[in-house]
Amino acid sequence: MSPTPSDGSHGIRISRVSKVYPGTARPAVDDVSLDIAPGEFMTLLGPSGSGKTTMLSMLAGFVGVSAGSIEIDGRDVSRLKPHRRNLGVVFQQYALFPHMSVAKNVAFPLQQRRMPKATIEAKVAEALKLVHLEPYADRLPTQLSGGQQQRVALARAVVYQPRALLMDEPLGALDRRLRDQLQREIARMHRELGMTFIFVTHDQHEALTLSDRIAVFNEGRIEQVGTPADLYERPETLFVAQFLGESTCFRGTVDRPAGVLRCERFTVRVPEAPDTGSGVVIVRPERLELCAEETEVPAGHNRVAATVTDVVYVGTHHQVGLRFADGTTGMAMRLVGPPLPAAPGDDVTVAWDPAHQAVVADPAGAAVSVPEARSATPVLP
Ligand code: ADP
Ligand code: MG
Repeated sequence: MSPTPSDGSHGIRISRVSKVYPGTARPAVDDVSLDIAPGEFMTLLGPSGSGKTTMLSMLAGFVGVSAGSIEIDGRDVSRLKPHRRNLGVVFQQYALFPHMSVAKNVAFPLQQRRMPKATIEAKVAEALKLVHLEPYADRLPTQLSGGQQQRVALARAVVYQPRALLMDEPLGALDRRLRDQLQREIARMHRELGMTFIFVTHDQHEALTLSDRIAVFNEGRIEQVGTPADLYERPETLFVAQFLGESTCFRGTVDRPAGVLRCERFTVRVPEAPDTGSGVVIVRPERLELCAEETEVPAGHNRVAATVTDVVYVGTHHQVGLRFADGTTGMAMRLVGPPLPAAPGDDVTVAWDPAHQAVVADPAGAAVSVPEARSATPVLP
């Protein structure tokens, strides 16, 4: 079960925090508010330069806030030194002490806290067990792989039972296979420790797999906060829709009284669209059905004619490329197994249940003209 957002008296509360670095015009973090519940796995997700590291550094106390406040369990920590905040921190570079053994690296924060020797030994053993590195206690960091070094950093960050663990792209330097493995380790550590984890990544899959909730950053601001399913199925902005996965995007003008989006060559039903104005209807590829005949379209579904441009086999499914009458391009997904209903060059009717579409404002504001470069298949960083 995922925790509910905090009321601020327990957990971490970020209130209207901004950061303007000296000599820069635009804030790196711009009026960000976010409540993190005790025990929650919260991910800050966004492209490079969107302010994630700056936000995490302000939480950790490495960088001061320009405005706003940060509270931990009801106490304002905005002006506290990093070591007074009781937070564990892991960054991308392994930052282990190269001349110290694994066990000594992990013991270091406990020695700084002047704990008795026997306690230190017990806690170090427990932390190494948590990350499955007991047999490596006497090795030097250089005698370990990148993934093992990062597990030592994780053990060192949680050994003194901090209030929360902050991680800035901790898997960024690892190859895909090690990344997947360490992702599962981090998920297990979170379950076993029950500690609040705050995780920074630019990788949407990593965010979707690990998180209770995700805060999507764009240009220093939070675009949307929600569970992985919220963000994927009910994106509130075009940025969120395109940053998290593939989608087909129909641009047009919302005609509220008629309950439709008027595109250049067709209309799409939008029963729950917001204000009249230019809008975008977003549909995920697994929600699009391909019908050879109009008559196959289920009642109440949206339907738009398209031509199949290409079919790509990607192992678990086929990606079916589509082009609509107004030039919009898009993609449907079909599981491998059942016969494909269409081949490249075929004309099909694309159908979907309006309950599975999202309608958002069009940031470009263009009501009808739809240049190809702006439509459909999103480009991920
Ligand atoms: P992210 O971690 O999402 O890539 P950062 O927080 O590192 O984003 O950067 C956000 C913005 O702040 C960027 O425009 C970056 O160039 C700027 N920035 C980061 N650190 C500094 C700094 N020490 N001085 C000035 N500008 C900075
Ligand atoms: Mg960063």
